[in-house]
Amino acid sequence: MNMDIQFYNTLTRKKEKFIPVIDGKVSMYTCGPTAYNQAHIGNFRTFLFEDVLKRFLMLVGYEINHVMNITDVDDKTIKKANNENISLKELTDKYTKIFMEDLETLNILPADIFPIATEHVDDMIVMIKSLIDKDHAYITDDGSVYFSIKTFEEYGKLTNLDFDNQIQSERVAADEYSKETPQDFALWKSWKDEDGEIGWDSPWGKGRPGWHIECSAMSIKYLGDHFDIHCGGVDNIFPHHENEIAQSRCSFGSPFVNVWMHSEHLNLEDEKMSKTLGNILSVPSLVKKGYTPESIRFALISSHYRTKIAFSETKLTESKKAVHRINEVYDRLKTLQKTGTSLPNEYEDFVAALSDDLNTPKALGILFSYIKKINKKMDISSFSEKETAMSIHFIENADKIFSLLTHDGRIPEDISALVLKRDKARKSKDWQLSDKIREKINQKGWIVEDSSDGTKCYKA
Ligand code: AMP
Ligand code: ZN
Repeated sequence: MNMDIQFYNTLTRKKEKFIPVIDGKVSMYTCGPTAYNQAHIGNFRTFLFEDVLKRFLMLVGYEINHVMNITDVDDKTIKKANNENISLKELTDKYTKIFMEDLETLNILPADIFPIATEHVDDMIVMIKSLIDKDHAYITDDGSVYFSIKTFEEYGKLTNLDFDNQIQSERVAADEYSKETPQDFALWKSWKDEDGEIGWDSPWGKGRPGWHIECSAMSIKYLGDHFDIHCGGVDNIFPHHENEIAQSRCSFGSPFVNVWMHSEHLNLEDEKMSKTLGNILSVPSLVKKGYTPESIRFALISSHYRTKIAFSETKLTESKKAVHRINEVYDRLKTLQKTGTSLPNEYEDFVAALSDDLNTPKALGILFSYIKKINKKMDISSFSEKETAMSIHFIENADKIFSLLTHDGRIPEDISALVLKRDKARKSKDWQLSDKIREKINQKGWIVEDSSDGTKCYKA
């Protein structure tokens, strides 16, 4: 299927045709969790938006290189580790492990790389040095380093703010020490008593990196200084992503990121769910209450990513019904045991909806109308073998994005990602790579078979 994909770019404030830097490949950076607490379902709203985006791009044939950082040093992690009298590593290892478990529970495809901030301090120091050398940054008396926003003409473009009449955000306020301009932000924070044992040596004395430089250094290290997509929640736009742009563009003089995509917040009783406010719900707490991971997934991905979600348990109950409807029809179709590679006309509309700035509610609407139609047809037994095969294929393809099927024969996410990669290798006649992937699939206890009906995958 040859279809234009359009994404809304926060930087230009319009939908744009998506054209990757390298044909057929997508490089994608998503801001990961700050590992001082368990991530809440608001955070997972954003991580699920990114998962659906990635799965969609994979389904339409792109090879994805996805990097998600783990922020294991910032004001919050340091404060909590010192309050609890444990090392920073002990604290952040604990919450990183919990985060990985929650990702798995929600069937979120893991990133190709999860770089950890404290393992990249040297890269950050190199970048800060280059910003000082180019007069974009200055050192203060206490040994901190600040980025000078007046040296970057485009500062404020992402946020769409005129910085002469600038607003102060919480996170900027937390960065305050002694600056030339109030909005200048810290690249390096000099060591303070309250930091305890936490600190790294640098040309400017002992200290630690600012939060923003972490993502600039790690994204560029793994994806290069010009890559396709950078995502986060809307609260990341300012100051975090605005500052990332300033640092990266001034350091490398390259375009940095083509498309900036941000998901709206998940709210609980009209307030943003946040660790700071304390109005949080975790994935395991909802599972404990009896909600399935698929219902939670559905509740968080069925709204368009650029609209707010008003979260409630009623929403989860409704989601449970929707998940049941998909599984019920799929199980019913599976008893008819037909396979094929053709797809119904509705599939084209389904992909078109997702190609239009990832319109998940529209795509799900098309899927549910289709399910209603085939259920009716099955009720009166007017369903041909071809139609059965097409329906199974449509639902399975839709599930590669939404991941809502719960039946026992479900192919785990890592296996289906490998099967997709292998299909791609076969299409480009890279038999060596395709054999290598087949071996990897076998080692994980699964068999992949090619037939005239398409690729089949089952447990060994
Ligand atoms: P943090 O751990 O605070 O750095 O947040 C991790 C990710 O979750 C970031 O991309 C945030 O923008 C996003 N996020 C935080 N709170 C919410 C919320 N209530 N709804 C949606 N996304 C959120
Ligand atoms: Zn980030």
